[in-house]
Amino acid sequence: MKDVAILGYGPVGALLANLLGQAGLTVAVYERETAIHPLPRAVHFDGEVMRIFQSAGLADHIALATRPSSQGMHFVNAAGQTLIVRRGIDGPGPQGWPNNWYFHQPMLEQVLREGVNRFPHVEVHLGREITDVSELDARYIVGCDGARSLVRRAIGSRQHDLGLHQPWLVVDLLCDPSSRRVKALPDYTVQLCDPARPMTIVNVGGARRRWEIMLMRGDDPDRLTEPDVFWPMIARWLRPQDARLERAAIYTFHSLVQEGWRNGNLLLAGDACHQTPPFLGQGMCAGMRDVANLAWKLKAVLRDGAPDSLLDTYESERRPHVEAFIELAVKLGAILQETDPAKAAERDRRFAAGAEMFDFPQPQLGLGCRADAPPPVGTIFPQPVLPDGRLMDKAIGPRFAVVGETELLAGRRPDAVMLPGVGVDWLAQRRLRAALLRPDRYIAEVA
Ligand SMILES: Cc1cc2nc3c(=O)[nH]c(=O)nc-3n(C[C@H](O)[C@H](O)[C@H](O)COP(=O)(O)OP(=O)(O)OC[C@H]3O[C@@H](n4cnc5c(N)ncnc54)[C@H](O)[C@@H]3O)c2cc1C
Repeated sequence: MKDVAILGYGPVGALLANLLGQAGLTVAVYERETAIHPLPRAVHFDGEVMRIFQSAGLADHIALATRPSSQGMHFVNAAGQTLIVRRGIDGPGPQGWPNNWYFHQPMLEQVLREGVNRFPHVEVHLGREITDVSELDARYIVGCDGARSLVRRAIGSRQHDLGLHQPWLVVDLLCDPSSRRVKALPDYTVQLCDPARPMTIVNVGGARRRWEIMLMRGDDPDRLTEPDVFWPMIARWLRPQDARLERAAIYTFHSLVQEGWRNGNLLLAGDACHQTPPFLGQGMCAGMRDVANLAWKLKAVLRDGAPDSLLDTYESERRPHVEAFIELAVKLGAILQETDPAKAAERDRRFAAGAEMFDFPQPQLGLGCRADAPPPVGTIFPQPVLPDGRLMDKAIGPRFAVVGETELLAGRRPDAVMLPGVGVDWLAQRRLRAALLRPDRYIAEVA
């Protein structure tokens, strides 16, 4: 019997397979499709997710297939007034990596799948549809099986609807780099808050640009990508001679969170247990955080004698965290998707004094495997560079660690990696002297 069966080989299942493979667990992955999903979906992940890829030993490979960016995301109205900005960050951010990365999802998934090939104890079964979880023979079964999850049905999770459901057309264009209009496109992400037709424009990297276009009343969804309908919608930026339409799909963006991510040996991760509208570029990121939380707990239970109840802390920690992101995406969606001209004008007046700035939230995990204390307990610890030039996580490895004041840590008998002198400035700013970090680098406890 395998330690873990993973149902679904999308990005979340593929990252989990890497993390469990690295932990030495025996794994079988089952995926209905024989090839990577071809339609346009995620284009952005954040610095924390790059740090998770680092922990899977894949950061260098992923960096080659993606585009780091110091630019932010600008919510702009039809007249060009900037309403809101999600800040960009120059250079490495607190996670030790640039804070924003842009990519072509099939390429990212390819790198993750190549990573799995490192582990002979991880078997991958492509072209294998599972119709009943009883077909899977493993100590634990993780449903990374997406929005229509079979494992979720077997668990009987309860759905919480956060209220946003809206169809959008999503198009990837391959642009001519010599075109004057292509050169003039902004490098930052644009959220065009035009009540006549809200849109999102993203520089994916290379020649590829993403247009996400909200469907309006009266649209014929079957005709939206026909040249005489499509090009006029983006005429303020490009003309037909500037780019070629690579692929297109219509999605209804949802905001949903499931309650019940575990029942016995069945667990859920990724879109199977939450879906967000993509206005923050955080849906897949949340799934990656799920499996970073789950993987070390599965290893602790299956190999290191931790009680099975440790796995109950997975949902209690992760659900409030992902809800914070989805609630913000819904709030931003309400600003972006306003189609009533009078209400849009009223909205724009609220920002007349200047654009509002924000950063990605850094929510606290719910209660679980951490002290019951205010933040920074339960939030992610930054990743400093050590005096020898290594990133901190490299020095720790997949273990617990204690960081903090040298005098406080001196002479302690280590049950975890001790890193005296690391993170002291960050801790001192918060009037703290040391912190206990979990293998996923969330703070378990402080002194
Ligand atoms: C337009 C759009 C833009 C987005 N932009 C972003 C973004 O910028 N950043 C971001 O972080 N996220 C973004 N997202 C969200 C992101 O794409 C998803 O969250 C992510 O793909 C979910 O990954 P997953 O592995 O959980 O599920 P999926 O990718 O859906 O994978 C599930 C897999 O399970 C397989 N499967 C299901 N049932 C079975 C079965 N019974 N037997 C065998 N196999 C099965 C499926 O074939 C599939 O391969 C965007 C989404 C959309 C639609």
